[in-house]
Amino acid sequence: MEAVVGQASLALSQSALRACLDRAMENRASQQQIAVVESQLGRYPRGIVAVGAQCVCGNPLAVITRPELPGGIPFPTTCYLTSPQAVKAVSHLEAEGVMATMNEQLAQDENLRERYERAHRTYLAFRQLLAERLGDDQSHIEGISAGGMPKRVKCLHALVAQSLVMGPGVNPLGDQALEAVADSFSPSRCDCDQPWPQRALAGESSL
Ligand SMILES: [Zn+2]
Repeated sequence: MEAVVGQASLALSQSALRACLDRAMENRASQQQIAVVESQLGRYPRGIVAVGAQCVCGNPLAVITRPELPGGIPFPTTCYLTSPQAVKAVSHLEAEGVMATMNEQLAQDENLRERYERAHRTYLAFRQLLAERLGDDQSHIEGISAGGMPKRVKCLHALVAQSLVMGPGVNPLGDQALEAVADSFSPSRCDCDQPWPQRALAGESSL
């Protein structure tokens, strides 16, 4: 498939995407961050590149994962939500039926549809840069982003993760979900059970 990623059709400029990638590559996940993410997810975060978004306390909110996991396993979900508070808040939103409402919005609002497709292309463009930088093969996941993009909403967690990693104005429905959960989760307010400094101190002896 020929890449349809024109610069004008992205939600972020190529230079902004590169800056996002450079930030990730210069701040590869530390052992301590990996340990915290492992406790957040309840499993080891295979293929983790970096923490892509942090709570104000420093805890990881979302991670950036490589397109090809160790063992050659294709992994399309480059931006992955890890914060338990965020995951819980977004799960509640899903349980309330918000995804059906968003799919109706997509069906009715052409402008929203375009912005959502742009978010999809931006996701792919970022992963393309990541794959090139890491030398990962992403032929098995070409054109596949996350969360149901570009046509549907199937997983709000994936959309919110993109919003957190790439910032507001990139994924309109991820942004909308973040606004909807603002009372129970916000990246600008720490609701962590264990804020980072406590974790860091507690973790030091075991790392
Ligand atoms: Zn926090």
